[in-house]
Amino acid sequence: MSGAEHTAGHTAGHSLVFLGTGASCGVPSFYCGCKACEEARDDPRAARDCSDLLVVGAQHTLIDAAPELRTQLIRERVGHIDRLLLTHEHFDHIGGIPQLEFLVRLGPRPPLPLYAGAQTLAAVERCFGFMSDVLEPHLLEAFATVEFDGVVYTPLPAAHSEGAFGFLIETAQKVAYFPDTGPLPPQTRERLDGLDVLIIDATFNGRNWMPSSHHTIDEAIALAHGLGVRHTYLTHLTMHYDEPITRAELEEKLGPYGGDIGLAFDGLRLTLG
Ligand SMILES: [Zn+2]
Ligand SMILES: [Zn+2]
Ligand SMILES: [Zn+2]
Repeated sequence: MSGAEHTAGHTAGHSLVFLGTGASCGVPSFYCGCKACEEARDDPRAARDCSDLLVVGAQHTLIDAAPELRTQLIRERVGHIDRLLLTHEHFDHIGGIPQLEFLVRLGPRPPLPLYAGAQTLAAVERCFGFMSDVLEPHLLEAFATVEFDGVVYTPLPAAHSEGAFGFLIETAQKVAYFPDTGPLPPQTRERLDGLDVLIIDATFNGRNWMPSSHHTIDEAIALAHGLGVRHTYLTHLTMHYDEPITRAELEEKLGPYGGDIGLAFDGLRLTLG
């Protein structure tokens, strides 16, 4: 798609690797025989792991750790992770953290820096206490920027679980990554002026089963238009609720947008400059 490549700038190149682009049930869901799941069984390119994103520069910064993290990293030939940022505490975003245990223990390497909000850090400690010597926790506060490897990250409140964030990711370009959110809080929305790329929750198709904490595909498109974003990628897709839609059908639906609204998929890479 024409919006898939972005090149800019004078700074060292960065890129985004979409490791997973599905919701927590994945595509296909083992228990589902809808046309979207059948399409993904027949064609692995239509399959979706749970959502997480790798920011690649001189270093590798991982945003969220899907339960399928190990196979995602093998698929993308990623041999190291320098730090982990988390959006929120739900299993589809933290379930892969134990896959990082032996990256540290068998290196041996220093503990892996972990950046997250207070609720998310507490959940990680509760769920993965056996890794407390392997992770080096750092508290992220909403709107307080951190910078790694030439990229500025700003955690912004999402409308999702308590303390959930999306991230503003700024290089030569301005990217927003909100894999899980309902209607954006006003103070978050006003930080998204002038976005080059929006990567946004499009969990549902048709009826929104959870309107305060997720978007439908149509709501995500409306948000992109409201923000006047140049390029938008839909992610965190169930593809089967409330109305199943195949990847082929969704690409056809997005066709009239001429690449301005694109469909994220597992393995998609964007060059940011
Ligand atoms: Zn999620
Ligand atoms: Zn299905
Ligand atoms: Zn969630």
